[in-house]
Amino acid sequence: MVTPKDTTKYIFVTGGVTSSLGKGIISASLAKLLQARGYRVTIQKLDPYINIDPGTLNPYEHGECYVTEDGAETDLDLGHYERFLNTPTSQANNVTTGRIYQSVIEKERRGDYLGETVQVIPHITDEIKHCIQLLGENNQYDFVITEIGGTVGDIESLPYIEAIRQLRWEMGRRSLVIHLTLVPYLSAAKELKTKPTQHSVKTMLEYGVQPDILVCRTERPLNENIRKKIALFCNVDVTSVIESIDTNSIYKVPVLMREEKLDKVALKKLNLPVSTPPVLENWQSFLNKLENPKKIVEIGLVGKYVELMDAYKSIIESLIHAGTTNECQVKIKMIHSEHITQENLENTMKGLAGALVAPGFGDRGIEGKILAINFARENRIPFFGICLGMQCAMIEFARNVLNLPEAHSTEMDPATPDPIIDIMEEQKKITIKGGTMRLGAYPCTIKDNTKTRKIYNKTDITERHRHRYEVNNEYLEAFEKHGLKATGINPQANLVEIIELEDHPWFLGVQFHPEYKSTVASPHPLFVDFIKECISHSEK
Ligand code: GLN
Repeated sequence: MVTPKDTTKYIFVTGGVTSSLGKGIISASLAKLLQARGYRVTIQKLDPYINIDPGTLNPYEHGECYVTEDGAETDLDLGHYERFLNTPTSQANNVTTGRIYQSVIEKERRGDYLGETVQVIPHITDEIKHCIQLLGENNQYDFVITEIGGTVGDIESLPYIEAIRQLRWEMGRRSLVIHLTLVPYLSAAKELKTKPTQHSVKTMLEYGVQPDILVCRTERPLNENIRKKIALFCNVDVTSVIESIDTNSIYKVPVLMREEKLDKVALKKLNLPVSTPPVLENWQSFLNKLENPKKIVEIGLVGKYVELMDAYKSIIESLIHAGTTNECQVKIKMIHSEHITQENLENTMKGLAGALVAPGFGDRGIEGKILAINFARENRIPFFGICLGMQCAMIEFARNVLNLPEAHSTEMDPATPDPIIDIMEEQKKITIKGGTMRLGAYPCTIKDNTKTRKIYNKTDITERHRHRYEVNNEYLEAFEKHGLKATGINPQANLVEIIELEDHPWFLGVQFHPEYKSTVASPHPLFVDFIKECISHSEK
């Protein structure tokens, strides 16, 4: 008898030649197309580094740390998965080598291996296989797409490729390997080159894995000859050579992949029907709006990682979703908070339709953020503060309105006489850094007759968190008396989660991260309303 587990199909996505080819977007696009055909799909990322999770990684190293509902600190690709599929991911969707080894070593210490020598094969590979198949349990999904981080040929990704080889052998036609490579264009030779792809597939073959489908990232269209050449050298049929051409928006990739028939080829190889085409109407209408904006606004994004857009990935994507909803193109001006001074403040902020002050940790760039907020508050520029951005808004207000010139967060100044932002009680005894913040979804109750209530159009919400510090309730009365109101409160812990300023067109701060929940199908209401206000501000 076929158990439900046996009906789940597994698709593995590997990458060759170089990193940054867009495996995450290809995985998410294929998942989108399968979802649009009515299948239940989830995507998982396996990261070959030793950190247990990216929570302890500097954003310069690995971009944004994305947080799931269940409080997992994960790779930013999970953000793409959620934004494309509009379904939540969880801890099980992101596994690192560190986590694999941790779990094997814990088993060894418990004595679970009964005296065996614990080795990479089979113990590490078994653990990898277990993490992959876990998502397929209980017939939850028709497809589990597993993206392997890194590049084939790296020493650290070897156990993952070996695990795929074993699973291919065990699962047969229930599994599929898609290999993403680069087909570079050499301008001197005026030619696309297939050799890197050939070598990359050879490396896969050395490890015993023959890719079923090749997705070739390229700057120029692949002609029939190139496709045939790749097919010939890499043992795939020519229809399995898929072009992935550079495009100006990641949201176009599902449509490009549909044109290249990636979903169809994959389904055929898995012996599944291809008769019902994917329904992408809503996606297409999002794209139409994205490509035909009626207006344009410029928003200042104030943060300290301006050289690296990936550090604010989810915020930038949320702004795109919100802009598209308002039929408006959002131009983002990255403002380095460390470079803001009283002297250049006006020049920096002048002409902006709105300012968003980003989340962050540590005191680098703090005073610049506070200056920017002060300018937005006094000049009635729409302001949106997220996590540290909200905390900075309260510091600014305390110093300049409540007349507490030394007010600060104890994160930056432990000795401040006015700790208006202070470490949470439950965080005080925690000394280790990894996975110990207030993480994941928490409920929040919104007060009636507030802007926030109008924006959400409901009273009870949940939003995702990632922080250690909170608003010190001892100062709340003073803030409220001067017009900075707490409009969203955690009902159990009585923590301030949302603030808004009276007598200002749009001045709102949130302790949580709304950017983790904005998707193409469901743009986040706070971002949508913020952009709406920015548009009317810029029209004034
Ligand atoms: N550093 C602040 C805290 O820990 C804010 C965190 C954030 O912006 N994510 O509370």
